[in-house]
Amino acid sequence: MNISFPEFQAGSVWLAGAGPGDAKLLTLYAYHALQQANIIIHDALVSQDILALAPSQCRLESMGKRGGIKSPVQGEITARLAALAKQGHKVLRLKGGDPFVFGRGAEEAIPLIKQNIPVRIIPGISAGIAGSAYAGVPVSDGKLNQVISFVTGHDKSGQVPAVNWQALAQSSPVIVFYMPMKHLDKIQQELLSAGRHEDEPVCIVSNATTDQQKKLIGTLGDICKKLEKSDIKSPAILIVGPTVDLSSLLQGCFT
Ligand code: SAH
Repeated sequence: MNISFPEFQAGSVWLAGAGPGDAKLLTLYAYHALQQANIIIHDALVSQDILALAPSQCRLESMGKRGGIKSPVQGEITARLAALAKQGHKVLRLKGGDPFVFGRGAEEAIPLIKQNIPVRIIPGISAGIAGSAYAGVPVSDGKLNQVISFVTGHDKSGQVPAVNWQALAQSSPVIVFYMPMKHLDKIQQELLSAGRHEDEPVCIVSNATTDQQKKLIGTLGDICKKLEKSDIKSPAILIVGPTVDLSSLLQGCFT
């Protein structure tokens, strides 16, 4: 393989996306970073299979935010990254999915850049894309949608985000929600009030791309009730829209 990677300099921080869980979805760039780093600060969503790829002499530290679980505030994470870089480490900050997709990547990178710490960003495959695919749901289909929206299910303060639900419902046939579980009932109500149909197909995928993956198919009208009866838990995404119907044909492509 003839790919030239940049040198991981001592005293720098590489902020990499690890994808949604399946180690096979790690990019070559992120894999290279894992081999070169001497300390990895990973968030709660990075799978054990991926952490196991780090060389044995590499130190692993868990530091990440997770809904419902006591987690370090963002400033503590940045301070830790800065301190390790200043000690001369090759610091890999490894995050689930893509660092810039609801991942606070810029919030971690910018304070480091302001302290003149060299930072490199390595994109990853986001859960909304690979997670949908592994459930057999294409986020777009030539005949069904020309727009895809990725929406977070809660904002920084834990509330349903102040999106323009009318505009979202009318303009985006396929909507993928990250962190949908806490306010699933409100998301359902907002979409129905904004004109989406209760028979519209929806899919919840939890622990997507891992061997714990679970999928729940329903309609916009019945998904909350179905979820109550299931054992599906976070991390999960919710996909709303006509491409969900294709999963019956495509799901076998990922097992
Ligand atoms: N930066 C990440 C998203 C972080 S926000 C990315 O690009 O994927 C955390 C949310 O991502 C979770 O609450 C969930 O909605 C989603 N998520 C991450 N990994 C997931 C997985 N393996 N399966 C389902 N959802 C996942």
